[in-house]
Amino acid sequence: MKKKRIFIFSVITLCVLLLCTFLLLSSGTPAKRPNQSPNQRNAGTGTDADGTGDRKDRTNGTRDSADGTGDKANKTGDRLDDTTADQDEPIVSTDRKPARDSNIHVRKSPIALDPKMDTHLAEFCRKAKQLQQDYPHSFLISLPAKGKKVALTFDDGPDGSSMPKILDILNHYQVPGTFFFIGQQMKGFPETIQRAQAEGHVLANHSWSHIRPTDVRSDTLMGEVQRTQDVLAHYGTKTKFFRPPFGLVTKKQMTELIQAGFQTVAWSIDSMDWYFDNPDDIVTCVVENIHPGAIVLMHSSGGPTNRRATIESLPIIIETLRAKGYRFVTLTDKT
Ligand SMILES: [Zn+2]
Repeated sequence: MKKKRIFIFSVITLCVLLLCTFLLLSSGTPAKRPNQSPNQRNAGTGTDADGTGDRKDRTNGTRDSADGTGDKANKTGDRLDDTTADQDEPIVSTDRKPARDSNIHVRKSPIALDPKMDTHLAEFCRKAKQLQQDYPHSFLISLPAKGKKVALTFDDGPDGSSMPKILDILNHYQVPGTFFFIGQQMKGFPETIQRAQAEGHVLANHSWSHIRPTDVRSDTLMGEVQRTQDVLAHYGTKTKFFRPPFGLVTKKQMTELIQAGFQTVAWSIDSMDWYFDNPDDIVTCVVENIHPGAIVLMHSSGGPTNRRATIESLPIIIETLRAKGYRFVTLTDKT
């Protein structure tokens, strides 16, 4: 009996010893992890503490500010698609939205263009789509596609001649528009601005002097944007929509625009009213490409014929889209 107890005691002691040895060994061995680059290991969630700029932006931003000159800054803008430069950095967007909607893109012109223009616009579409994917909440190409709604947007105003004619048409059809103003033009046409506002249209920011953002430093652009926003604020505008002249910004500029509270607005349909003289072509560009949530680019001012073709095409566009069941909204529409 005594021998049996000693045997059981010995077995238990041996088991305890084996267990202790196993625990000691396993705590001293690092867990095996998948291969990672140092950057990936340090990335954490991939989002900066301030929640405004992603890691990739900062990498680009450093290069951008070092570049300085307009020409080089433009090349920085082009680096948007240079994935090899950032291959060690995880691509993470700050304004998180998991699914990429392939329907959000700038539509191609339904009318054949000369090959050079075709290539130029295809490149623009590609870069705009990339910005939208990187900043899904802050770089808009279209509105959330809930039903047949469309936003008509008009750039390059205000003025005292063609924009009042555009307003006449919009008011006749009870269609609200969004007007992206060039800041330095606003001083000369307070009546047009006040009229647009009184009639329920949305006023927004198209820079101070119509600079091409990808040609200038970020601080220059932000100065232009803020200066225009100050004048808009004088008219009581609270919305902060910025449309870059020519449609694109650099990633560093995008980060600064987000920090300053702006939404950057491109378009999903280019009416090509800056290119075609024939109103029928402008109608075709809009109507053939129409889709729920479309943002349509048009112009309220400028051009060699002072927007004659835009003014002639606008009533046809409105009537045709209405007949197709579309409802007109502004960029502030939440429905
Ligand atoms: Zn413009």
